[in-house]
Amino acid sequence: MLKLQNVSKYYKSNDIVAMGLRKVSLEFKLGEFIGITGESGSGKSTLLNVISGLDTYEDGELYINGEETSHFTLEDWEHYRRQYIGFVFQNYNLVDSYTVLENVLIALTIQGYDKSRRKARALELIERVGLASHINHKASKLSGGQKQRVVMARALAKDCPIIVADEPTGNLDTGTSKQIIDLLKEISKDKLVIVVTHNFDEIKEHATRKIRLFDGEVAEDKQIKSYSEVTTKEYQTNYNLSLFELTKFSFRNLIRTPRRSIFTFIVALFIMLVFTFSFGSFSKNTEGGGNIYGNNVFENVSDRRLIVTKYDATPFDTVELTELNSINRVNYLLKHDVIMDKNIYSYDDQRNRVYSVYNLMNPADMLNKSDLVSGRLPTSKYEVVVEDIGDYAIGDSIQVGFDEVIWGLESSEIPPTAERFSIVGITKQIVVNDYRTRFYFHQSFLNAEETIREAYLGRRYENQYFNFEIEVTPKDDSEPVTIQLYDMNFLIDDSLESNQVLVGYQQLDQLSQMMYKLPYEENEDFYLDLNIDLTVTTSFYDNTHAVEIIGEYTQDESSEYFGNVIAMNQTTFESFVDLRPYQITLLVDDAYDGELIIDEVKDEGYNVIYPANILNQFSEISQLISTIFFGFLMVILLIIIYFISYVILKNIQRSKRKDFIIFRSIGASKKDLNKVTILELILLFTFSYIVIMALLLFNESLAKTSVPQYLKYYQFSTYFVVYSILLIISLLLGYRFNKKVFSDSVITSLTKE
Ligand code: ADP
Ligand code: MG
Repeated sequence: MLKLQNVSKYYKSNDIVAMGLRKVSLEFKLGEFIGITGESGSGKSTLLNVISGLDTYEDGELYINGEETSHFTLEDWEHYRRQYIGFVFQNYNLVDSYTVLENVLIALTIQGYDKSRRKARALELIERVGLASHINHKASKLSGGQKQRVVMARALAKDCPIIVADEPTGNLDTGTSKQIIDLLKEISKDKLVIVVTHNFDEIKEHATRKIRLFDGEVAEDKQIKSYSEVTTKEYQTNYNLSLFELTKFSFRNLIRTPRRSIFTFIVALFIMLVFTFSFGSFSKNTEGGGNIYGNNVFENVSDRRLIVTKYDATPFDTVELTELNSINRVNYLLKHDVIMDKNIYSYDDQRNRVYSVYNLMNPADMLNKSDLVSGRLPTSKYEVVVEDIGDYAIGDSIQVGFDEVIWGLESSEIPPTAERFSIVGITKQIVVNDYRTRFYFHQSFLNAEETIREAYLGRRYENQYFNFEIEVTPKDDSEPVTIQLYDMNFLIDDSLESNQVLVGYQQLDQLSQMMYKLPYEENEDFYLDLNIDLTVTTSFYDNTHAVEIIGEYTQDESSEYFGNVIAMNQTTFESFVDLRPYQITLLVDDAYDGELIIDEVKDEGYNVIYPANILNQFSEISQLISTIFFGFLMVILLIIIYFISYVILKNIQRSKRKDFIIFRSIGASKKDLNKVTILELILLFTFSYIVIMALLLFNESLAKTSVPQYLKYYQFSTYFVVYSILLIISLLLGYRFNKKVFSDSVITSLTKE
């Protein structure tokens, strides 16, 4: 079975060479019960360790079943220990946190013992060593004798041919020692049993052979009893634990060392938290829109504003509005997007002056509570929230109007459209040093008919939405000609009769040249009784009415526009204008939501314009920079997280050393134990991942009003990516910890512990 030929073993430490074994030649057969004696330091343990593959040897050769072992790899020795060796040591190497049953079972699991019979076998052996009543006791709670009996049960349960015992009774009283020796004898029948003892008498009646060592050499070797040799049977070649067994193994370790697990779990929670929030803010800062500085197309570029129109340029009906409003993540639907780009003027009662020329009119529904610096959101029609520019205070009463209506007016002259609003809240300034101030109105004000009318029609010098065309028939009876009046300003002059218009001299010049081939100056009164078809065109509709040009617009000559004006009364103008919702706004929380909703709205068949996505050059570059910057930060953060958790978990992992060495000594492979460490971490990380995600999901409505509203930046793929990164961290940590645990050979580790 085993054969040593001139085997030598030295220990070198600090230039001192100690002799463990000196050219030892021995042969052991299956069925023998061998007692090894010798005084302390004579090499007994060294011999056992070499025989059982726990320690290496230098010279000579050890044969196992006739096979040389000098070329054995780490895996070969692991396999040998797993399939051939059952150990009993003086210092009872048990996994303290495991129960009696678990200590025995784990040896069977590692060996790959028939699954269906594992438990029965373990119980049988535990009973045989007299511990049936202690099956579920923790190993740490047992007495020395009980511990040694568990070790015996573990060694015996394994289906292995060699049992080695190094002073198994060394720490036990005589009574208990006798039981242990009897047990050894009992199971020695078809095995090779090698027992080291300095008290040979205790095994005298069982031993078939006595070997005495002296100074690393065999001083005596004699057979004292006959034995029946047993033929060697085939042992299972190799066994690797299945993933399921490994997971169970890891799970048991976690359960059995709750303090260690909880601590690691807390660290994992911390990593998850840091990671979740930083990943959230990474997405928030790099994805989508984010252009709040304005562009050439829209005055009001908020990443909370999403413009929707229909491809067929018809107005939205109620069903469509309801459908759009019910899209997930849409906070509010503003029926008239025109309001968003409207400039308003404000007049402050207390301070008696008109404020900045450009104020943006926003719906209060685009604000979250967290946007407020102080005060509250408006709850009624004439309450307003203003941006914090230092000019306004809560409780101030202001009046606002579109265009220039209240410009230069005394407060008593302010027209009724300039309503009195009380300021109920102040918001953060969105763009620092912006020349515009944002006002946030309650929806009942924004949806009021007079507001919508006012927003579309304005008062004067306002042609953002309307183009004008006049069809004229030249006096020489040639075909009618359509004149496009670009850059035309309309204004309301209620002193005019219905369907009468006054036209600025530039338009009159154009018309005169079309009709008479004469410039206006040479044809001064050509417009008298001139009836024309005037068409007002928007992107969505055109309305044509016959109007009569009754003269030249000559008022307001101080205005830069006056030569390019068409004036009519309110009623006439309204007949050209369609107040149905053609262009609406969906209000969202931010650019990230905006991006998500764009696709959804497009899928529903609508046209979407996202002002925040119309980048100017500056924001394009800044977005690229922020992506690079935050990407870099994320990587740095990951590295920091990795090292911090490594340092924190290092000691925890070190406390696993002893258990892992025991697993190794009973044959667990390094590879499998590596996997166990990693699986333990993965289990804890997964658990913390689930806990954090559940908490945040559960909390989402709450999170909306407070700082951590990052979860919404997680999409399915994000969850996956975050989880993968966590797995990678556990893998890296696991590998590093394993390196530490396995840095020494099994026996060195064992003696160190
Ligand atoms: P025994 O078990 O018979 O008391 P050992 O086999 O433990 O003897 O030791 C044999 C010799 O080897 C002793 O001189 C001992 O000092 C030495 N020795 C054993 N283990 C080591 C070690 N790890 N490092 C250095 N010397 C050792
Ligand atoms: Mg010894």
